[in-house]
Amino acid sequence: MIDDSPTALLWIEPRYPAAARPLIDDIARRMTGAMLASTSYNLTRGAHQCTGCGSGMSSSSYRLVGNFGLGALYTHALAVHYLAYHRDECPPEQLELIADMGWAEAEPSADALAGSWRAWDRTVQGPRVRGYR
Ligand SMILES: [Zn+2]
Repeated sequence: MIDDSPTALLWIEPRYPAAARPLIDDIARRMTGAMLASTSYNLTRGAHQCTGCGSGMSSSSYRLVGNFGLGALYTHALAVHYLAYHRDECPPEQLELIADMGWAEAEPSADALAGSWRAWDRTVQGPRVRGYR
């Protein structure tokens, strides 16, 4: 599902296959940290699956922690997958926003790179990363 509203982050539908290798840089690590600190939030938008490569399947949405000047910022389980495998299709202004947000960086797990809900499930992932809120 595509959502280009200012409170939606990386609600894109990639058109091309995934990159052969994931791009794991400061932006992908920041997004991972932001996701680990996020709160699960159901926007009832149905299941998300990557339209470029078929990865991921999750109906959860996530509210990101931070001062956005927007009230809230929401994303979904595929956010890190899109940054790692479909970077060319991510909106440049959203890449800048992620780079500027000051979220603590975290190394993405295999589940995170695959866009799996398991990467962000608290019962799988354990306690949240400290230092947010
Ligand atoms: Zn994909």
